[in-house]
Amino acid sequence: MSILVIAEIDSHGIKAATRSAITAAGQLGGDVHLLLAGSDLEGIALQAKSIKGLSKILVADAAEYANGIAENLTPLLVKLAPGYSTVLAAATSFGKNLLPRAAALLDAAMVSEVTQIIGERTFVRPIYAGNLNATVTAPAGLALITIRQTVFEAVAETGGDGAVESIAATGDAGKAQFISRELAVSDRPELASAKVVISGGRSLGSKEIFHDTLEPLAAQLGAAIGATRAAVDSGMAPNDAQVGQTGTVIAPDLYIAFGVSGAAQHVGGIKDAKVIVAVNHDAEAPIFKVADYGLVADLFDVVPELSAALKQ
Ligand SMILES: Cc1cc2nc3c(=O)[nH]c(=O)nc-3n(C[C@H](O)[C@H](O)[C@H](O)COP(=O)(O)OP(=O)(O)OC[C@H]3O[C@@H](n4cnc5c(N)ncnc54)[C@H](O)[C@@H]3O)c2cc1C
Repeated sequence: MSILVIAEIDSHGIKAATRSAITAAGQLGGDVHLLLAGSDLEGIALQAKSIKGLSKILVADAAEYANGIAENLTPLLVKLAPGYSTVLAAATSFGKNLLPRAAALLDAAMVSEVTQIIGERTFVRPIYAGNLNATVTAPAGLALITIRQTVFEAVAETGGDGAVESIAATGDAGKAQFISRELAVSDRPELASAKVVISGGRSLGSKEIFHDTLEPLAAQLGAAIGATRAAVDSGMAPNDAQVGQTGTVIAPDLYIAFGVSGAAQHVGGIKDAKVIVAVNHDAEAPIFKVADYGLVADLFDVVPELSAALKQ
């Protein structure tokens, strides 16, 4: 049987996370189809057609699928999923919102945040804030899987030639209505896919200091800015900047943590970074256990010094 990947769409088109899910689907073997559900999809369907690794693109173009409302997408997925062996999506807010709903309604296996595909039904997924990896086997029959984007390289955007097929919409479920979206506008790269991420913790003290301290350095490094949950909860950084177990899991080439203690829930989201640098004035801070380079110093001294050095 074939595998169905659920596309996640934003204002730029199909998100890179979806192409990572296609890579994971390819590792399962078999035909890979993409479900493209949204509104005004003509241009995006063309984009989907050229993505490598897809044999078919199912296009559900209807107003009720605009804005990725899970309440409206679930009936569509429940209708389609039984025709597939596996349904996959990236473990983003979108995927985590949609797939478990369909799995519950279909009474099918749900395996979340898969980081490795061992066999058709056997997967590795992190548990205990990423401190342990569990190998799990889903029972025979349909399985719905979210995959961790950072460990599956995205398939190429070009080179494919999947067949595009329109499918019937399932209508408005009438359970949720889109009101508005507040988009954080930033010149910085997207946190989940940035090559360099610098982040700050509660120690930055205020929203203004957080911004004024980290923004110039991030601009110099072409980095995305992340934050701990403590920094987010105290209003210093926006929700979408949170890195960790309950935020974004990242795997940049370089991660620099300023005034971050290194709680397990934070480390669970950064441990796949290639190089971790930590600046903390407490030599006993747990972040130093996972850091490749550690500096016991005051971040308010280090950030301007680093900025000045980078200017030279
Ligand atoms: C269910 C659950 C899920 C969670 N999910 C997440 C998550 O996804 N992400 C996350 O980050 N947290 C998460 N947390 C919270 C986590 O446990 C920690 O509370 C949080 O990460 C701590 O943030 P912090 O390092 O900013 O603050 P603190 O723990 O208060 O640490 C501040 C650090 O800054 C250092 N410092 C202070 N001033 C300076 C200075 N001037 N220069 C240098 N260093 C300085 C201190 O030595 C200290 O190590 C979660 C918690 C729970 C219970």
